[in-house]
Amino acid sequence: MTPNEANPTDGPACGSGCGPLTPEQMRVMRDHGTERPGSSPLNHEKRAGLYRCAACGTPLFRSEAKYDSGSGWPSYYDVLPHAVESHTDTSHGMVRTEIHCASCQGHLGHLFPDGPRPTGLRYCINGLALNFVPDAA
Ligand SMILES: [Zn+2]
Repeated sequence: MTPNEANPTDGPACGSGCGPLTPEQMRVMRDHGTERPGSSPLNHEKRAGLYRCAACGTPLFRSEAKYDSGSGWPSYYDVLPHAVESHTDTSHGMVRTEIHCASCQGHLGHLFPDGPRPTGLRYCINGLALNFVPDAA
């Protein structure tokens, strides 16, 4: 953990779900990095459960909205209400919609308009930004 750095997880949003982030998670969530496609074990996660923000523990996605987009990143066609915020990202010479956690502002991934029904949306998320919690049996 780097001291003297603006820490978006400070504050009341940082509850019991808080955990220390690895350097790779810091690179994605704080510096808007992108993990290597196909590198996340969550690509193959098929169990029922909840995907939480890796930085602050806020529930972001349900397994029911997860689908295999073939992109190499965990993909969802829907998000839990008010869990994420977006803004227009014009970096890398592209116009994309960047997605971040509404609670801690941690970067999650991007939103594309080419998802399946019923939303037609594709939330393309770095697995490093997520903690999967399987439903209790
Ligand atoms: Zn968060």
